[in-house]
Amino acid sequence: MPTPEEASTSTAPEKSFRELGLIEPLLEALEKVKFKSPTEIQSQVLPHALQGRDIIGVAETGSGKTAAFALPILQKLWEEPKGLFAVVLAPTRELAYQISQQFESLGAAMGVRCLVLIGGVDKMPQAVALAKRPHIIVATPGRLNDHLQSTKGFSLRNIKFLVMDEADRLLDMDFGAEIDQILKVIPKERTTYLFSATMTTKVAKLQRASLSNPVRVEVSSKYQTVSTLLQYYLFVPLIHKDVHLIYLANELASNSIIIFTRTVHDAQRLSIMLRTLGFPAVPLHGQLSQSQRLGALNKFKTGGRKILVATDVASRGLDLPSVDVVINFDVPTHSKDYIHRVGRTARAGRAGKSITIVTQYDVELLQRIEKVIEKKLDMWPVSKEEVMLLKQRVDEAGRMAINELKEHTKGEGKKRRREEGRSKDDRDRDDDVVEAGMPEIKKSKSRR
Ligand code: AMP
Repeated sequence: MPTPEEASTSTAPEKSFRELGLIEPLLEALEKVKFKSPTEIQSQVLPHALQGRDIIGVAETGSGKTAAFALPILQKLWEEPKGLFAVVLAPTRELAYQISQQFESLGAAMGVRCLVLIGGVDKMPQAVALAKRPHIIVATPGRLNDHLQSTKGFSLRNIKFLVMDEADRLLDMDFGAEIDQILKVIPKERTTYLFSATMTTKVAKLQRASLSNPVRVEVSSKYQTVSTLLQYYLFVPLIHKDVHLIYLANELASNSIIIFTRTVHDAQRLSIMLRTLGFPAVPLHGQLSQSQRLGALNKFKTGGRKILVATDVASRGLDLPSVDVVINFDVPTHSKDYIHRVGRTARAGRAGKSITIVTQYDVELLQRIEKVIEKKLDMWPVSKEEVMLLKQRVDEAGRMAINELKEHTKGEGKKRRREEGRSKDDRDRDDDVVEAGMPEIKKSKSRR
Protein backbone atom coordinates (compact mmCIF):
# COMPACT_ATOMS: atom_id res chain seq x y z
CA MET A 1 0.00 0.00 0.00
CA PRO A 2 1.41 3.43 -0.82
CA THR A 3 2.05 5.70 2.14
CA PRO A 4 -1.07 7.74 2.83
CA GLU A 5 -0.90 11.27 1.60
CA GLU A 6 -0.91 13.72 4.49
CA ALA A 7 -3.65 16.32 4.19
CA SER A 8 -2.21 19.79 4.36
CA THR A 9 -3.53 21.90 7.16
CA SER A 10 -4.66 25.09 5.58
CA THR A 11 -4.52 28.45 7.29
CA ALA A 12 -7.32 29.82 5.12
CA PRO A 13 -10.39 31.14 6.92
CA GLU A 14 -12.75 28.38 7.97
CA LYS A 15 -15.35 27.44 5.39
CA SER A 16 -19.00 26.93 6.17
CA PHE A 17 -20.76 23.63 5.48
CA ARG A 18 -22.26 25.25 2.39
CA GLU A 19 -18.87 26.44 1.16
CA LEU A 20 -17.50 22.95 1.65
CA GLY A 21 -20.01 21.82 -0.96
CA LEU A 22 -22.70 20.06 1.02
CA ILE A 23 -26.11 19.75 -0.57
CA GLU A 24 -29.35 21.38 0.59
CA PRO A 25 -30.97 18.43 2.44
CA LEU A 26 -27.82 18.04 4.52
CA LEU A 27 -27.55 21.78 5.20
CA GLU A 28 -31.15 21.67 6.37
CA ALA A 29 -30.44 18.76 8.71
CA LEU A 30 -27.31 20.45 10.04
CA GLU A 31 -29.35 23.50 10.88
CA LYS A 32 -31.91 21.34 12.70
CA VAL A 33 -29.27 19.64 14.84
CA LYS A 34 -27.63 23.04 15.40
CA PHE A 35 -24.23 22.23 13.94
CA LYS A 36 -23.48 25.83 12.96
CA SER A 37 -20.02 25.41 11.55
CA PRO A 38 -17.79 22.46 10.76
CA THR A 39 -15.43 21.16 13.43
CA GLU A 40 -11.78 20.86 12.52
CA ILE A 41 -11.97 17.21 11.51
CA GLN A 42 -15.05 17.94 9.39
CA SER A 43 -13.35 20.91 7.67
CA GLN A 44 -10.38 18.76 6.83
CA VAL A 45 -12.12 15.55 5.85
CA LEU A 46 -15.02 16.88 3.77
CA PRO A 47 -13.09 18.32 0.80
CA HIS A 48 -11.20 15.04 0.26
CA ALA A 49 -14.18 12.83 1.02
CA LEU A 50 -16.44 14.72 -1.37
CA GLN A 51 -13.84 14.11 -4.07
CA GLY A 52 -14.26 10.41 -3.46
CA ARG A 53 -10.95 9.74 -1.69
CA ASP A 54 -10.30 7.03 0.90
CA ILE A 55 -9.65 8.59 4.30
CA ILE A 56 -7.66 7.74 7.38
CA GLY A 57 -9.00 10.10 10.04
CA VAL A 58 -7.25 10.48 13.35
CA ALA A 59 -9.52 12.31 15.74
CA GLU A 60 -10.86 11.85 19.21
CA THR A 61 -14.43 11.13 20.08
CA GLY A 62 -15.97 14.50 20.75
CA SER A 63 -14.25 16.04 17.72
CA GLY A 64 -17.24 15.52 15.44
CA LYS A 65 -15.71 12.61 13.58
CA THR A 66 -18.98 10.75 13.14
CA ALA A 67 -20.45 13.57 11.06
CA ALA A 68 -17.13 13.84 9.22
CA PHE A 69 -17.71 10.40 7.73
CA ALA A 70 -21.53 10.42 7.74
CA LEU A 71 -21.96 13.62 5.70
CA PRO A 72 -19.99 12.57 2.59
CA ILE A 73 -21.70 9.17 2.60
CA LEU A 74 -25.13 10.80 2.81
CA GLN A 75 -24.22 13.22 0.04
CA LYS A 76 -23.23 10.34 -2.26
CA LEU A 77 -26.37 8.46 -1.27
CA TRP A 78 -28.45 11.44 -2.36
CA GLU A 79 -26.78 11.37 -5.76
CA GLU A 80 -27.16 7.61 -6.12
CA PRO A 81 -29.99 6.43 -3.86
CA LYS A 82 -29.97 2.68 -3.26
CA GLY A 83 -30.36 0.16 -0.47
CA LEU A 84 -27.35 -1.39 1.29
CA PHE A 85 -25.22 1.59 0.37
CA ALA A 86 -22.76 1.76 3.26
CA VAL A 87 -21.55 -0.40 6.12
CA VAL A 88 -20.12 1.15 9.26
CA LEU A 89 -18.31 -1.15 11.67
CA ALA A 90 -17.85 -0.31 15.33
CA PRO A 91 -16.24 -2.35 18.09
CA THR A 92 -18.98 -1.85 20.69
CA ARG A 93 -22.73 -1.93 20.65
CA GLU A 94 -23.19 1.46 22.27
CA LEU A 95 -20.97 3.12 19.72
CA ALA A 96 -22.94 1.45 16.93
CA TYR A 97 -26.15 2.99 18.31
CA GLN A 98 -24.57 6.40 18.59
CA ILE A 99 -23.34 6.31 15.02
CA SER A 100 -26.70 5.28 13.64
CA GLN A 101 -28.45 8.05 15.58
CA GLN A 102 -26.14 10.56 13.94
CA PHE A 103 -26.81 9.12 10.46
CA GLU A 104 -30.52 9.27 11.14
CA SER A 105 -30.54 12.86 12.30
CA LEU A 106 -28.26 14.09 9.51
CA GLY A 107 -30.12 12.06 6.91
CA ALA A 108 -33.58 12.96 8.22
CA ALA A 109 -34.40 15.40 5.41
CA MET A 110 -33.53 12.80 2.79
CA GLY A 111 -35.38 9.92 4.44
CA VAL A 112 -32.39 7.75 5.11
CA ARG A 113 -33.02 4.23 6.45
CA CYS A 114 -30.48 3.03 8.96
CA LEU A 115 -30.17 -0.37 10.64
CA VAL A 116 -28.11 -1.35 13.66
CA LEU A 117 -26.85 -4.95 13.72
CA ILE A 118 -25.42 -5.86 17.09
CA GLY A 119 -25.22 -8.92 19.29
CA GLY A 120 -27.17 -9.45 22.48
CA VAL A 121 -30.53 -8.80 20.84
CA ASP A 122 -32.83 -10.99 18.80
CA LYS A 123 -31.62 -11.76 15.28
CA MET A 124 -35.02 -12.22 13.66
CA PRO A 125 -36.21 -8.59 13.68
CA GLN A 126 -32.80 -7.63 12.31
CA ALA A 127 -33.19 -10.12 9.45
CA VAL A 128 -36.66 -8.74 8.69
CA ALA A 129 -35.29 -5.18 8.66
CA LEU A 130 -32.44 -6.28 6.38
CA ALA A 131 -34.95 -7.54 3.86
CA LYS A 132 -36.19 -3.95 3.55
CA ARG A 133 -32.72 -2.95 2.32
CA PRO A 134 -31.69 -0.15 4.65
CA HIS A 135 -29.32 2.44 3.17
CA ILE A 136 -26.84 2.35 6.02
CA ILE A 137 -25.91 -0.62 8.20
CA VAL A 138 -24.08 0.09 11.43
CA ALA A 139 -22.78 -3.13 12.93
CA THR A 140 -20.46 -4.87 15.30
CA PRO A 141 -18.38 -7.39 13.31
CA GLY A 142 -19.65 -10.55 15.02
CA ARG A 143 -23.33 -9.97 14.34
CA LEU A 144 -22.74 -8.69 10.82
CA ASN A 145 -20.91 -11.92 9.98
CA ASP A 146 -23.64 -13.91 11.57
CA HIS A 147 -26.18 -12.33 9.20
CA LEU A 148 -23.87 -12.68 6.22
CA GLN A 149 -23.74 -16.40 6.88
CA SER A 150 -27.29 -17.12 7.94
CA THR A 151 -29.69 -14.48 6.61
CA LYS A 152 -31.08 -15.57 3.28
CA GLY A 153 -30.70 -13.09 0.45
CA PHE A 154 -28.45 -10.71 2.40
CA SER A 155 -25.13 -9.78 0.88
CA LEU A 156 -22.81 -6.81 0.82
CA ARG A 157 -21.81 -7.35 -2.82
CA ASN A 158 -22.95 -3.92 -3.92
CA ILE A 159 -22.02 -1.62 -1.07
CA LYS A 160 -20.21 1.60 -1.94
CA PHE A 161 -18.71 2.58 1.43
CA LEU A 162 -17.00 0.79 4.27
CA VAL A 163 -16.29 2.73 7.46
CA MET A 164 -14.37 1.38 10.43
CA ASP A 165 -14.84 3.55 13.49
CA GLU A 166 -12.31 2.95 16.27
CA ALA A 167 -10.43 1.32 13.39
CA ASP A 168 -7.26 0.84 15.36
CA ARG A 169 -9.13 -1.49 17.63
CA LEU A 170 -11.11 -3.22 14.88
CA LEU A 171 -7.92 -4.03 13.01
CA ASP A 172 -6.40 -5.63 16.11
CA MET A 173 -6.14 -9.36 16.00
CA ASP A 174 -8.96 -9.72 18.51
CA PHE A 175 -11.39 -9.01 15.68
CA GLY A 176 -9.09 -10.63 13.10
CA ALA A 177 -11.13 -13.44 11.63
CA GLU A 178 -14.38 -11.50 11.62
CA ILE A 179 -12.95 -8.47 9.84
CA ASP A 180 -11.20 -10.70 7.30
CA GLN A 181 -14.46 -12.47 6.63
CA ILE A 182 -16.28 -9.18 6.04
CA LEU A 183 -13.53 -7.80 3.82
CA LYS A 184 -13.74 -10.93 1.69
CA VAL A 185 -17.38 -10.39 0.78
CA ILE A 186 -17.45 -6.67 0.09
CA PRO A 187 -16.42 -5.26 -3.26
CA LYS A 188 -12.86 -4.03 -3.77
CA GLU A 189 -14.33 -1.13 -5.72
CA ARG A 190 -15.52 0.90 -2.78
CA THR A 191 -14.63 3.91 -0.70
CA THR A 192 -13.05 3.15 2.67
CA TYR A 193 -12.84 5.39 5.72
CA LEU A 194 -10.87 4.47 8.82
CA PHE A 195 -11.43 6.66 11.87
CA SER A 196 -9.84 6.36 15.27
CA ALA A 197 -8.58 8.45 18.17
CA THR A 198 -5.30 6.60 17.97
CA MET A 199 -4.19 5.06 14.73
CA THR A 200 -1.52 2.52 14.11
CA THR A 201 1.25 3.30 11.71
CA LYS A 202 1.82 -0.42 11.21
CA VAL A 203 1.54 -0.87 7.49
CA ALA A 204 0.57 -4.52 7.74
CA LYS A 205 -2.36 -3.65 9.93
CA LEU A 206 -3.56 -0.88 7.65
CA GLN A 207 -3.07 -3.04 4.58
CA ARG A 208 -5.77 -5.36 5.83
CA ALA A 209 -8.33 -2.63 5.25
CA SER A 210 -7.24 -2.45 1.57
CA LEU A 211 -7.33 1.29 1.25
CA SER A 212 -6.74 2.82 -2.11
CA ASN A 213 -4.52 5.89 -2.20
CA PRO A 214 -5.86 7.26 1.11
CA VAL A 215 -5.51 10.75 2.53
CA ARG A 216 -4.51 10.87 6.17
CA VAL A 217 -6.16 13.62 8.18
CA GLU A 218 -5.13 14.18 11.75
CA VAL A 219 -6.55 16.89 13.94
CA SER A 220 -4.86 16.41 17.25
CA SER A 221 -1.55 14.91 18.05
CA LYS A 222 -1.98 11.22 18.64
CA TYR A 223 -0.84 10.91 22.16
CA GLN A 224 -2.01 14.07 23.72
CA THR A 225 -4.46 14.97 26.32
CA VAL A 226 -6.15 18.35 26.04
CA SER A 227 -4.80 21.36 27.89
CA THR A 228 -8.06 22.04 29.74
CA LEU A 229 -7.69 18.68 31.49
CA LEU A 230 -6.10 18.76 34.94
CA GLN A 231 -4.46 15.40 35.58
CA TYR A 232 -3.74 14.16 39.06
CA TYR A 233 -2.54 11.00 40.73
CA LEU A 234 -3.18 9.71 44.19
CA PHE A 235 -0.54 7.44 45.68
CA VAL A 236 -2.05 4.89 48.06
CA PRO A 237 -1.11 1.48 49.47
CA LEU A 238 -3.00 -1.29 47.63
CA ILE A 239 -5.01 -2.26 50.71
CA HIS A 240 -6.39 1.27 51.04
CA LYS A 241 -7.60 1.72 47.50
CA ASP A 242 -11.31 1.39 48.28
CA VAL A 243 -11.32 3.87 51.10
CA HIS A 244 -9.46 6.44 49.00
CA LEU A 245 -11.96 5.99 46.20
CA ILE A 246 -14.82 6.68 48.59
CA TYR A 247 -12.95 9.68 49.94
CA LEU A 248 -12.68 11.05 46.41
CA ALA A 249 -16.34 10.33 45.66
CA ASN A 250 -17.21 12.25 48.81
CA GLU A 251 -14.99 15.20 47.99
CA LEU A 252 -16.30 15.38 44.43
CA ALA A 253 -19.91 14.59 45.27
CA SER A 254 -21.41 17.44 43.24
CA ASN A 255 -19.69 16.31 40.03
CA SER A 256 -20.56 13.75 37.40
CA ILE A 257 -17.88 11.09 37.62
CA ILE A 258 -16.75 8.08 35.65
CA ILE A 259 -14.71 5.57 37.62
CA PHE A 260 -12.74 3.21 35.39
CA THR A 261 -11.81 -0.25 36.60
CA ARG A 262 -9.76 -2.95 34.94
CA THR A 263 -12.10 -5.78 35.82
CA VAL A 264 -15.82 -6.42 35.50
CA HIS A 265 -15.73 -7.70 39.07
CA ASP A 266 -14.48 -4.38 40.42
CA ALA A 267 -16.96 -2.39 38.34
CA GLN A 268 -19.77 -4.41 39.93
CA ARG A 269 -18.28 -4.48 43.41
CA LEU A 270 -17.50 -0.77 43.56
CA SER A 271 -20.87 0.30 42.24
CA ILE A 272 -22.63 -1.81 44.89
CA MET A 273 -20.28 -0.43 47.53
CA LEU A 274 -20.88 3.14 46.45
CA ARG A 275 -24.62 2.63 46.46
CA THR A 276 -24.48 1.05 49.91
CA LEU A 277 -22.75 4.20 51.10
CA GLY A 278 -25.39 6.41 49.54
CA PHE A 279 -23.71 7.43 46.27
CA PRO A 280 -25.83 7.25 43.10
CA ALA A 281 -23.65 4.83 41.12
CA VAL A 282 -24.36 2.55 38.17
CA PRO A 283 -22.07 -0.07 36.56
CA LEU A 284 -21.32 -0.39 32.84
CA HIS A 285 -19.36 -3.29 31.41
CA GLY A 286 -19.47 -5.91 28.71
CA GLN A 287 -20.93 -8.62 30.90
CA LEU A 288 -24.23 -6.82 31.25
CA SER A 289 -27.00 -7.59 28.82
CA GLN A 290 -27.58 -5.09 26.06
CA SER A 291 -30.64 -3.59 27.71
CA GLN A 292 -28.82 -3.26 31.02
CA ARG A 293 -25.96 -1.46 29.30
CA LEU A 294 -28.23 0.97 27.53
CA GLY A 295 -30.20 1.45 30.73
CA ALA A 296 -27.03 2.24 32.68
CA LEU A 297 -25.89 4.72 30.06
CA ASN A 298 -29.27 6.41 30.00
CA LYS A 299 -29.42 6.75 33.76
CA PHE A 300 -26.03 8.35 33.71
CA LYS A 301 -26.68 10.57 30.70
CA THR A 302 -29.91 11.92 32.07
CA GLY A 303 -28.26 12.66 35.39
CA GLY A 304 -30.23 10.14 37.45
CA ARG A 305 -26.93 8.58 38.44
CA LYS A 306 -23.96 10.84 38.95
CA ILE A 307 -21.36 8.07 39.03
CA LEU A 308 -20.69 5.55 36.28
CA VAL A 309 -18.38 2.68 37.20
CA ALA A 310 -17.10 1.32 33.93
CA THR A 311 -14.58 -0.99 32.37
CA ASP A 312 -12.77 0.03 29.20
CA VAL A 313 -15.84 -0.91 27.17
CA ALA A 314 -17.05 2.56 28.01
CA SER A 315 -13.80 4.39 27.48
CA ARG A 316 -13.80 4.09 23.72
CA GLY A 317 -15.99 5.93 21.36
CA LEU A 318 -18.91 6.70 23.61
CA ASP A 319 -20.19 10.20 23.60
CA LEU A 320 -20.92 10.76 27.27
CA PRO A 321 -21.78 14.40 27.73
CA SER A 322 -20.65 16.65 30.59
CA VAL A 323 -18.41 14.42 32.62
CA ASP A 324 -16.60 16.51 35.21
CA VAL A 325 -14.19 13.96 36.59
CA VAL A 326 -12.58 10.70 35.49
CA ILE A 327 -11.16 8.49 38.23
CA ASN A 328 -8.89 5.62 37.29
CA PHE A 329 -9.37 3.06 40.04
CA ASP A 330 -6.60 1.09 38.32
CA VAL A 331 -3.76 2.50 36.27
CA PRO A 332 -4.47 1.34 32.72
CA THR A 333 -1.84 -1.06 31.41
CA HIS A 334 -1.71 0.65 28.02
CA SER A 335 -1.05 4.35 27.76
CA LYS A 336 -3.52 4.55 24.88
CA ASP A 337 -6.26 3.38 27.23
CA TYR A 338 -5.30 6.12 29.66
CA ILE A 339 -5.80 8.69 26.91
CA HIS A 340 -9.12 7.20 25.92
CA ARG A 341 -10.30 7.11 29.51
CA VAL A 342 -9.36 10.66 30.50
CA GLY A 343 -10.74 11.81 27.15
CA ARG A 344 -14.21 11.40 28.69
CA THR A 345 -13.74 14.74 30.42
CA ALA A 346 -12.53 18.22 29.44
CA ARG A 347 -14.21 17.92 26.07
CA ALA A 348 -15.03 20.64 23.56
CA GLY A 349 -12.92 23.23 25.37
CA ARG A 350 -14.47 22.62 28.80
CA ALA A 351 -12.42 22.04 31.93
CA GLY A 352 -12.16 18.63 33.56
CA LYS A 353 -10.16 16.57 36.02
CA SER A 354 -8.71 13.12 36.02
CA ILE A 355 -7.42 11.38 39.11
CA THR A 356 -5.47 8.14 38.83
CA ILE A 357 -5.12 5.94 41.88
CA VAL A 358 -1.58 4.58 41.95
CA THR A 359 -0.37 1.82 44.28
CA GLN A 360 3.12 0.63 45.09
CA TYR A 361 2.82 -1.78 42.16
CA ASP A 362 1.82 0.79 39.54
CA VAL A 363 4.64 3.30 39.66
CA GLU A 364 6.28 2.08 36.49
CA LEU A 365 2.98 2.13 34.60
CA LEU A 366 2.39 5.71 35.66
CA GLN A 367 5.86 6.75 34.55
CA ARG A 368 5.23 5.16 31.18
CA ILE A 369 1.99 7.12 30.79
CA GLU A 370 3.69 10.36 31.78
CA LYS A 371 6.32 9.75 29.15
CA VAL A 372 3.75 9.15 26.45
CA ILE A 373 1.60 12.18 27.26
CA GLU A 374 4.70 14.29 27.90
CA LYS A 375 3.23 15.59 31.12
CA LYS A 376 3.85 14.99 34.80
CA LEU A 377 0.70 14.34 36.77
CA ASP A 378 0.17 16.45 39.90
CA MET A 379 -0.43 14.92 43.28
CA TRP A 380 -4.03 15.11 44.50
CA PRO A 381 -3.85 16.35 48.07
CA VAL A 382 -5.48 14.15 50.73
CA SER A 383 -5.78 14.28 54.45
CA LYS A 384 -4.82 10.83 55.73
CA GLU A 385 -6.77 11.35 58.93
CA GLU A 386 -9.95 12.19 57.05
CA VAL A 387 -9.51 9.17 54.80
CA MET A 388 -9.05 6.81 57.72
CA LEU A 389 -12.19 8.11 59.41
CA LEU A 390 -14.11 6.45 56.58
CA LYS A 391 -12.29 3.12 56.81
CA GLN A 392 -14.67 1.16 59.00
CA ARG A 393 -17.78 2.05 57.02
CA VAL A 394 -16.05 1.40 53.72
CA ASP A 395 -14.80 -2.02 54.86
CA GLU A 396 -18.31 -2.92 55.95
CA ALA A 397 -19.80 -1.77 52.64
CA GLY A 398 -17.07 -3.73 50.83
CA ARG A 399 -18.06 -6.93 52.63
CA MET A 400 -21.71 -6.34 51.84
CA ALA A 401 -20.86 -5.78 48.19
CA ILE A 402 -18.92 -9.05 47.98
CA ASN A 403 -21.82 -10.94 49.55
CA GLU A 404 -24.33 -9.35 47.22
CA LEU A 405 -22.16 -10.18 44.23
CA LYS A 406 -21.88 -13.82 45.29
CA GLU A 407 -25.64 -14.10 45.63
CA HIS A 408 -26.22 -12.34 42.35
CA THR A 409 -23.72 -14.32 40.29
CA LYS A 410 -25.15 -17.62 41.50
CA GLY A 411 -28.37 -17.20 39.57
CA GLU A 412 -27.46 -14.60 37.03
CA GLY A 413 -25.23 -16.57 34.65
CA LYS A 414 -27.81 -19.23 33.99
CA LYS A 415 -30.63 -16.76 33.68
CA ARG A 416 -28.77 -14.58 31.25
CA ARG A 417 -27.73 -17.44 29.02
CA ARG A 418 -31.34 -18.55 28.89
CA GLU A 419 -32.64 -15.08 28.09
CA GLU A 420 -30.16 -14.08 25.46
CA GLY A 421 -29.23 -17.39 23.93
CA ARG A 422 -26.07 -15.65 22.85
CA SER A 423 -24.28 -17.71 20.27
CA LYS A 424 -20.53 -17.62 19.79
CA ASP A 425 -20.83 -15.22 16.90
CA ASP A 426 -23.05 -12.84 18.76
CA ARG A 427 -20.38 -11.18 20.75
CA ASP A 428 -18.70 -7.94 20.12
CA ARG A 429 -15.29 -7.75 21.68
CA ASP A 430 -15.23 -5.86 24.91
CA ASP A 431 -11.78 -5.75 26.36
CA ASP A 432 -13.15 -6.63 29.73
CA VAL A 433 -11.17 -8.61 32.20
CA VAL A 434 -13.39 -11.06 34.00
CA GLU A 435 -11.91 -12.20 37.28
CA ALA A 436 -12.09 -15.47 39.10
CA GLY A 437 -14.87 -15.30 41.62
CA MET A 438 -17.46 -14.75 38.91
CA PRO A 439 -17.62 -18.30 37.57
CA GLU A 440 -21.10 -18.11 36.12
CA ILE A 441 -20.49 -14.96 34.15
CA LYS A 442 -17.10 -16.11 33.01
CA LYS A 443 -18.56 -19.22 31.46
CA SER A 444 -21.20 -17.25 29.61
CA LYS A 445 -18.59 -15.33 27.68
CA SER A 446 -16.38 -17.93 26.09
CA ARG A 447 -13.50 -15.99 24.61
CA ARG A 448 -11.42 -17.37 21.90
P1 AMP B 1 -18.32 12.64 17.72
O1 AMP B 1 -16.86 13.02 17.78
O2 AMP B 1 -18.76 12.26 16.37
O3 AMP B 1 -18.66 11.60 18.77
O4 AMP B 1 -19.18 13.95 18.07
C1 AMP B 1 -19.17 14.55 19.32
C2 AMP B 1 -20.34 15.47 19.54
O5 AMP B 1 -20.22 16.67 18.78
C3 AMP B 1 -21.68 14.85 19.16
O6 AMP B 1 -22.57 15.06 20.22
C4 AMP B 1 -22.11 15.61 17.93
O7 AMP B 1 -23.51 15.73 17.91
C5 AMP B 1 -21.43 16.96 18.11
N1 AMP B 1 -21.05 17.62 16.83
C6 AMP B 1 -20.51 17.04 15.74
N2 AMP B 1 -20.27 17.96 14.77
C7 AMP B 1 -20.64 19.15 15.27
C8 AMP B 1 -20.63 20.50 14.76
N3 AMP B 1 -20.18 20.79 13.54
N4 AMP B 1 -21.10 21.48 15.57
C9 AMP B 1 -21.56 21.20 16.80
N5 AMP B 1 -21.61 19.97 17.34
C10 AMP B 1 -21.14 18.94 16.60
